[in-house]
Amino acid sequence: MTEDAAVTGFADAHMHIVDVGAKGGYPDIDDAALLLSCTASFDEWEPQRRMAAADARIRPFYGVHPWHAETAPADYLEVLRGMLEDDGRAGVGEIGIDKLHPGPETQMRIFVEQMETAAETARPATVHMVKTEAETLKVVRMHSGDVPVILHSYAGDPGYTKAFSAENCYFSISSRILRMSQPRAMRILSAIPDDRLLVETDAPIRDHAYGSMGLFLIALAALRSTSVDELVGLTTANTLRAIG
Ligand SMILES: [Zn+2]
Repeated sequence: MTEDAAVTGFADAHMHIVDVGAKGGYPDIDDAALLLSCTASFDEWEPQRRMAAADARIRPFYGVHPWHAETAPADYLEVLRGMLEDDGRAGVGEIGIDKLHPGPETQMRIFVEQMETAAETARPATVHMVKTEAETLKVVRMHSGDVPVILHSYAGDPGYTKAFSAENCYFSISSRILRMSQPRAMRILSAIPDDRLLVETDAPIRDHAYGSMGLFLIALAALRSTSVDELVGLTTANTLRAIG
């Protein structure tokens, strides 16, 4: 993307700053206004804390991802609570349940424990959900009165979108949606209320067709028949509301 076509001032609702710091993969990160950064495993918490302290655009989310559920140390919840107490801007994530990964009991246990911690501390949570819409909805219903929930890389059916919309949920769209057929992508997008729409890179960006947030936003704006400025304005306002 050339300099004059740069999209600026966007809010990225889901990315991984520790991985970007180590591997790159976010060419237009300087154009971001806000970066909601998640961790996947416990050992990323401290590096992310240091990076967030050095860049006011980074809102750190601390969590153990379902893929790493088995690696959470026994005292991880105590540490999580400490991280949240130390930084009033911090949230909880990336947490969730993934049907394509083993260990559903452990996944569910640490998901619920971390959602409870988010609720008790009144912090937003970022949720990874793969083929577990029904299970996730059940857990979200118990807690979303207390916490806003960001559904990462959302691509659920309109029926689920309606159910999640009735809770305090936000729908974070990634470039995954642009690889679907246009009718299917539109069916997903048009069910999402305007005031709940977020955008994300899940950086480090691995999508070769949309290798920057700018390229993704241009394509998504075209699909929604809006201007890029309008899309950036809407999703940035929504992201700010989601993180309170
Ligand atoms: Zn992620």
